[in-house]
Amino acid sequence: MAGTAPRPESPSGRAPEVLIVGAGFGGIAAAIELRRHGITDITILEKAADLGGTWFYNSYPGAACDVPSHLYSFSFAQRRDWSRLCSPQAEIHAYLHEVAHRYAVDRLVQTNTTVTSCSWDAERCRWSVATASGSVHEADALILATGQLDQPSRPRIEGADGFAGHSFHSAEWDHSYPLAGKRVAVIGTGASAVQFVPEIAPVVEHLSVFQRTGNWFMPRRNRRYNRTIKTAIERVPALQALRRRFVFEYTESLTVSIRHPNTFGRIARARSIQFMRSQLKDPAVREKAWPDYTFGCKRILFSSYYLPALQRPNVELVTDAIARITPTGVVTAAGAEHELDCLIWATGFKTTDFMFPMRVSGSGGADLHEYWSGGAHAHLGMCVPGFPNMFVMYGPNTNTSGGSIIVYLEAQAAYIRQALQQLRARGAAAIEVRAEVEATSDRALQARFAGTAWTQCDSWYRDENGRIVTNWPGYMREYLEQTRELDVSEFSFVALPKPAAVVSA
Ligand code: NAP
Repeated sequence: MAGTAPRPESPSGRAPEVLIVGAGFGGIAAAIELRRHGITDITILEKAADLGGTWFYNSYPGAACDVPSHLYSFSFAQRRDWSRLCSPQAEIHAYLHEVAHRYAVDRLVQTNTTVTSCSWDAERCRWSVATASGSVHEADALILATGQLDQPSRPRIEGADGFAGHSFHSAEWDHSYPLAGKRVAVIGTGASAVQFVPEIAPVVEHLSVFQRTGNWFMPRRNRRYNRTIKTAIERVPALQALRRRFVFEYTESLTVSIRHPNTFGRIARARSIQFMRSQLKDPAVREKAWPDYTFGCKRILFSSYYLPALQRPNVELVTDAIARITPTGVVTAAGAEHELDCLIWATGFKTTDFMFPMRVSGSGGADLHEYWSGGAHAHLGMCVPGFPNMFVMYGPNTNTSGGSIIVYLEAQAAYIRQALQQLRARGAAAIEVRAEVEATSDRALQARFAGTAWTQCDSWYRDENGRIVTNWPGYMREYLEQTRELDVSEFSFVALPKPAAVVSA
């Protein structure tokens, strides 16, 4: 598939060639689904040295998934030997490797390949994909599976470039740097910081945790399964299915509380308050750590270890705004200087940028970045008018605050597979969502945010215009229902160009 050689005439009914960008859970799910349905000409381009996506990059101490593994795993590749309820990063990464190998899609992954641009050739109905190394790949269809949590974000803080100590982002953890005995600062207190702060706090000499906004917490101990539980799960297959079902329903109940902040949200909030009060014994830390926004507006954090860590004698929770960074530390607006050896950015990701800075141009050279300048939107998060044969995975409005993203990715893989099957069945060259269908579904989706907790604070779910562009506004089961069967009336098809008439001499 690599190279720019002219495409052989495509016989009607042949399976499309597919390029997938990103070998995380999304890209691997798509490749497995397509191969299982006879679409086998697939290349997966991955910028990292290994497959895994977020589970390759995020290897900070304590990195784990806070969604139980029964649900944070493929429905068709259930494991019954997870070490604990919420698996650590290495176990999840190994799982994805193992599944990719079992379904023979690991060999489709081309690592160390950074895609720089993708452009649609309307005449030939082909996508052309250029990489940083200068290679060009072509295919009939393009699946962008780079996700929402791909590009680490480092806020611009005055003086940050001049910091003379060591520094790194949580998603680019420097395992070669010994933190023992060091004065360390963490900027940011989201889901990542909450996992690694309890791990590094006992090791460092002093830890300053810079918090801009407090969080709502729920308990999560996540101890290793004992032998009895492990044996029961391994020996009774129905138990696994039952637990998966239970976790599915439990996570849906989190969405209930987010969708109904004044009723169910208050009940969940009361549980969180009770838990946080029991954990925050120190009144000064309690006051500082306490959130001041509606429960569920930002991601609810699950940890039974983070709040106690904040109360260690060598840890300081700093809530004064950061004024600037000097070569030796962080200075707050109150004028206090925190001298440091190491600064860790736990400031999250450029979530609303999606696959940018990659350049994506569709019909007539339309630029996706410009098309989304008012906020990203796509039909069911996957299909964009003007970008035929292109599909986005974990795209606009498909993040979940409560559920498992794997459930969404599997649904997306099956939906995209159906679209490509339609191409083949109709002998068509291109499939494209109709603009009015996408506009209507986007309006309906945005309207569903009204009255929910998501609208009641600022968060990484919103773009600079305040539009919520990352999250799905409803339940997992609604997304499954809406994506289960591709409605062909929502799409237009481009017929294959007729083969040129043979002129005999
Ligand atoms: P995040 O949730 O976006 O948190 C970023 C943190 O940095 C926030 O506390 C934010 O404060 C702070 N921050 C950003 N800019 C700042 C600035 N200029 N000055 C001071 N503080 C600043 O990032 P994350 O913790 O890496 O998590 C990102 C997402 O990854 C999560 O929401 C979740 O979806 C996923 N994740 C999942 C798991 C899991 O177990 N499933 C684990 C880790 C991450 P504000 O709150 O005030 O903006």
